[in-house]
Amino acid sequence: MCAGGKKVLSAGEISFMIDKNDISISEISNQSTGYCPKSESWIEVNKVLQKIGIDYPDYFTTAFEFRLCTSCGSINLVKDDFFVCQVCGTELDKEWNFDKK
Ligand SMILES: [Zn+2]
Repeated sequence: MCAGGKKVLSAGEISFMIDKNDISISEISNQSTGYCPKSESWIEVNKVLQKIGIDYPDYFTTAFEFRLCTSCGSINLVKDDFFVCQVCGTELDKEWNFDKK
């Protein structure tokens, strides 16, 4: 909806802190299993947040690495640099690969 039908540059979750008349971002992540955005999409998020002019963290407070299994099509959340599909055991691409769907 926010992208207006154009390519989605990032996605995730965001929490705000409200203190009297001040608002800031307390938590922000790229946690979206729908869009599975690259952690490098912070660059796009940062551009938008700079325009808004509120306080926000220097980077995602939690950054996720998603990979698509090229064998079974499962979405995987990579933990501890373990690039193996949790469903079928196939080795996962080291680079973000949802553009190859
Ligand atoms: Zn798999």
